[in-house]
Amino acid sequence: MESHQVSALGPAGEALSVDVASITSAADEHTIILCSGVHGIEGFIGASVQIQTLQMLANTGGLPEKTGIVMIHAANPWGFAHLRRVNEHNVDVNRNFYSAVPQSHPGYAGLDSVINPPKAPDPRGDFKYWMNAAKLIAQNRGVAKLFKPIAEGQYDFPQGVFFGGKQVSESCTLLKDLVLEYSSKAKRVSILDVHSGLGPKATASLIGNSNIGLQEGQLEWISDHYAQPFYIDSTTTNAYNANGTFSQWCSRTLSDKEFMYLCIEIGTVNPIKLFSALRRENQAHHWADGDSAVYRKTKLALLNAFAPKSQAWRDKSTDQGLHVVRKTLELPA
Ligand SMILES: [Zn+2]
Repeated sequence: MESHQVSALGPAGEALSVDVASITSAADEHTIILCSGVHGIEGFIGASVQIQTLQMLANTGGLPEKTGIVMIHAANPWGFAHLRRVNEHNVDVNRNFYSAVPQSHPGYAGLDSVINPPKAPDPRGDFKYWMNAAKLIAQNRGVAKLFKPIAEGQYDFPQGVFFGGKQVSESCTLLKDLVLEYSSKAKRVSILDVHSGLGPKATASLIGNSNIGLQEGQLEWISDHYAQPFYIDSTTTNAYNANGTFSQWCSRTLSDKEFMYLCIEIGTVNPIKLFSALRRENQAHHWADGDSAVYRKTKLALLNAFAPKSQAWRDKSTDQGLHVVRKTLELPA
């Protein structure tokens, strides 16, 4: 176990850290990195999968030969502690792994004032938003096209949603350092990055890095092996192709290894409800009084959208995450 304290503080002014639990040996040829909380509030399901993985290893007698596992807990500890998806600077850490600040989607600028009005959320503002949103959805012929410029990441509106930051964040730098440190000797590296929010409810959809499909038959093999909904970054089958992602950084950095990145995206609520919760919480965070009812209500709505209270959701989602870990442990070293 090791603990890396970060400069951001928790809600009560307490110190925060990124914690790492590793079971590794010098003989390892396959290193699995299981990561939680890149998007802070999504860390609940990620941490649950990590704890269950440890229990499973304890119950089954440990790891396969020449295989090591590294669990990075709460990659964005401020967002986890403050129940936000972003970090202490309103930065979406999974849009922040760039080598140069990317261009925002040209469609975002025109949407910003509709999505992020500079005031606390209120019913009248919501009515106006939904009216504008309905118009935009009709103009764009559907939600999917409208969502694309938003979710890809934007770099011009620091108080907007999906802001990728104007500089590389502490969370991002620390995560890169940890991945480099732990993967340096391995021949094969599998990175499992647990998120929640998108896709079918309580189901783990897998989104692989774009390097995966390069070998003949590899895509079909992964799809059969995991038997989960499976997509590849930067293809038309994916809902949108984000900029500055952890996945893209891994593809650039670990290309000399036998390497796979899988985003384990566990579905919660429908995308319109999810985005509405994100948007309102962002508005409340910037413009509402921290003691107000609307602030507390929007925070709670965000928590329920990314970490639903239902025990059935929690049990099934943890099992789904654990299934992906188990299948990755089966891979030869
Ligand atoms: Zn996420």
